[in-house]
Amino acid sequence: MARKRVVQRAAVGALGKHITRRSRGKCELCESREGPALYELPPFPLDPDPDRTLMACASCRGWLEHGKVEPIRAHFLRNAAWSDEPAVRLAACRLLVLVETPDDPWLRDTLEAVGFDPEKEELTAPDEWA
Ligand SMILES: [Zn+2]
Repeated sequence: MARKRVVQRAAVGALGKHITRRSRGKCELCESREGPALYELPPFPLDPDPDRTLMACASCRGWLEHGKVEPIRAHFLRNAAWSDEPAVRLAACRLLVLVETPDDPWLRDTLEAVGFDPEKEELTAPDEWA
């Protein structure tokens, strides 16, 4: 699937404190401490939103940016898809559809259960969770 490369914007820094506290300085997808940084999920809202932004390590940011996943290192996505944080859930689902086979019943059930629409690549009801 071809993806547009989206450049992160400086405004996301406004969420730095909040998300650093939320993530405890770890990648919210794989819990790595390797170069974690804020990652805003496109398309961006007008103002940076903690529900569209997560702390991600260098490797996970690379996956999100390029729309490519190394399947052998992607096992953590299955847990991250169930995160309480909509941004983490959304990021994990977007990556899961890249690593798992689309007709895998497990994948279909999971995406449906967490409210992810693979066609729009968005959560269908992010506010109804939790
Ligand atoms: Zn990571």
